Formats: sequence, C-alpha cells, structure tokens
Amino acid sequence: MNSNADLLARRRAAIPRGVSVATPVFADRAENAEIWDVEGKRYIDFAGGIGVLNTGHRHPKIMKAVEAQLARFTHTAFQVMAYEPYVELAERLNALAPFKPPAKTIFFTTGAEATENAVKIARAATGRSAVIAFTGGFHGRTLLTMAMTGKVLPYKKLFAPLPPEIYHVPFPIAHYGTSVEDSLKAINFLFKADVEPGRVAAIIIEPVQGEGGFHAAPKELMQALRRICDENGILLIVDEVQSGFARTGKLFAVEHMGVEPDLVTMAKSLAGGFPLSGVTGRADVMDAAEPGGLGGTYAGSPVACAAALAVLDVIEEEKLLERSLAMGEWMQKRLAEIAARNDTLPMAGIRGLGGMVAFDLVTSRGSRDPDGQATMLVTSRALDEGLLLLSCGIYGESIRILVPLTIDDALLHEGLGKLEKALTRSP
Ligand code: PMP
Repeated sequence: MNSNADLLARRRAAIPRGVSVATPVFADRAENAEIWDVEGKRYIDFAGGIGVLNTGHRHPKIMKAVEAQLARFTHTAFQVMAYEPYVELAERLNALAPFKPPAKTIFFTTGAEATENAVKIARAATGRSAVIAFTGGFHGRTLLTMAMTGKVLPYKKLFAPLPPEIYHVPFPIAHYGTSVEDSLKAINFLFKADVEPGRVAAIIIEPVQGEGGFHAAPKELMQALRRICDENGILLIVDEVQSGFARTGKLFAVEHMGVEPDLVTMAKSLAGGFPLSGVTGRADVMDAAEPGGLGGTYAGSPVACAAALAVLDVIEEEKLLERSLAMGEWMQKRLAEIAARNDTLPMAGIRGLGGMVAFDLVTSRGSRDPDGQATMLVTSRALDEGLLLLSCGIYGESIRILVPLTIDDALLHEGLGKLEKALTRSP
C-alpha cells in the first residue's frame, strides 16, 4: 500500500512547489460527499474540489452519461468535427441565461480560459481595450486573468510584467471599511485620472467573491455597475466560476441581484468533476470575434459536455436549488450555535448566499481583526478529524464551505460536528 508520507516525498521531489499543498494526504477513491485517502482514512468533503462538486463525487447519473459518451468517442476537436452534446449544452444554457434572449454559448476547459475569453469577446464587441476589476477578486492564473485577479500574493509576485489596461477598484466589504459608495467613487476617480469610459471594454465582477472570502456584491453595487455600463457602452461580465451552478440557490448568483449581465463565465460545477468551462453572452456580443479567434483543441470536450448535460438534469430532478437554500440556512444556524459557545475559537461574520457559506476567525470575541493563523489551525485540525475544509479571504481568515449539495442530512450533520470539534479550544 502507498503511504501518504511516501507519496508526499515523491510529490515534493517531482512537482514544483508553485502548486501549493492544502493537505498532506492523497486521494484513493470518493463517493458523493466522502473521500478516502490511500491509507483508508475517510473524510467528509466540505471542499468539493474547490466548488467543482455541487453534484457530489461520481454522481451515478453523471457517470452513466460519461460512460455512454466514452463508448462513442472522446475527442474530435470541436473545430474539426462538431458534435451534438456541445450544441445541446449550449442550447440549454442559452435558455437558462440570466439575461434577455437571444444568448449564445462557447465552451473551454478551465475557469481562467472562460474569464480570459470573456474579455477577448468584450474587446472584440466594443473595439475597446480596458477592463475594470475588483480588489480581492480571483479570475485565474493565466497572464490576463492573473492581471485581473485582485491579490498580489501569491498570484502575481514574480510574474511581471502584467498585461496593461487592467484597473482595480475596491470591492465593498463593510467590516474592512469599504462601502459601495467607496467603490463607485473609485470608478469615478479612475475615469478622471487613468482611463476615459469610452476606452473601457468591460467591468468584471464575481457576484459572490470566492477566493476573496465569500463576500456577496451588494445589490446596489451591481445595479450601479449596470447603470455605469449602460451609460458608457461598457459590457458587464459576471464571473460565476465559483458562485454558479446551484451553489447559491440559483443557477447563477447574479439572479439574486436583480441585474442582467452581458456575459457570464462558468466552470467548476458545470460538469460535475470533468474539466469544462464556458461563456454565455448576448448573441450580438458573442458573435463579434472572427471565426478562428476563439476555441481550443480540447475546448468543450464531448465527455465533459455529456457530463454537464447530466448535471443540469440532476440539479432539476434533485431540486438542488431548493436544497442549497435549505442547507445554507441550516449551516448558518449551526455555525451561530458553535460561535455562541464560550469554549470555541473567536468567530465572526457568519454569512452565506444559499449554500455558499463562510465565516471568519478573529483575534478575539467581538473583534473583526482577522486571524489567518487560527484558520490554518482549524483546517488542519479538521483534517485530523476527517473533514476536508478550505480557507479563503484576503487575510486567509475565512473558512468556506463548498460541500456537495447532494450530501444527505446525516452526513452534513456529522461534518458540522467535526467542524465544531476543530473549532473548540484545546483544554
Ligand atoms: N474565476 C473564479 C471566480 C474562480 O473561483 C476561479 C478558480 N478558483 C477561476 C476563475 C479560475 O478557474 P481555474 O482554476 O479553473 O482556471
């Protein structure tokens, strides 16, 4: 049998340290919301492969669809010979787009590719170059998306020069002293000091920041951004790579906000564990790029498209939107109970949009001073307890829960019990 320690040593020798290690254990097999390591230890999965597994590991319906596709063909390159699963998935997503029809959809492989291509499309459609993004936002690790990502360490350090014409404004987080008004003022300053609105192709925003700490963009901000875009011919891109696909109780988080974007990027839970990403946008905008300007050899893999079609069925049949809302409410209630105990580490800011739930660890009760060290302690204790848990946040102060929405109540309860143990102060 392979041991975790042996594999970790081999990993360290063979793989550069730039791919960070959240846990020192290695996966052997997984089923729905449980995962076992190579030494046979079981974990409840509150990480969901960073939000990829809203429908759980190896959902039987998704596996069946994938197996059927594997038996027919696995790759042609869509540009060489197209196939129906891609077309059908685009049709279904166009019908579900969170804006007025008609819509068109194109597929890629990773979240970064989707956000990068959304910018390419916006530039082609507007004939403009600049992009406005937000501090704390995460859009990927390719050169363009890294430039849009609003966090220097660890994403940008050592990788300069960054592509030009990407501007950041502050994302409003009330407890760190930034209001919606501050964000809008910053856009106004930007228009005065750095770039005229007529040169801005797009504003890109995550409706709920993922890596940045599960902070939902206030409705007033989203509505003001829509207004600024409309007044200045700018396109609004919502990056739903992490917040999409039922996580928040809607297919797309922006549906909570009463605003229609021009372009939506998606990935992660779109294909239930298979690599697939996409951009859905207004048809006129989506058709701006020249033939051959968009695509990729593996983009829109038929296997992943077959999986994604089954994901959409599962979301509907298993009522995962409703499930996300109910789970979110329950998780927040349990977390509030844990926070109220006087023998747990100081917690603050229990929050969530549907099943996209997080809280912060702080230096003392009642304070908002972030404690990233405590967060690391909790995730490592959780691992010992048999719970896979991820942190996030500007200061690494937040614990985020991305548990499969298909988890049953007993297992969710057990997982929250493990979390409670990990949060309890040592005697
Ligand atoms: N956008 C958002 C909102 C994300 O959360 C992520 C991944 N965490 C990305 C883009 C990049 O996706 P990928 O890692 O698949 O390139």
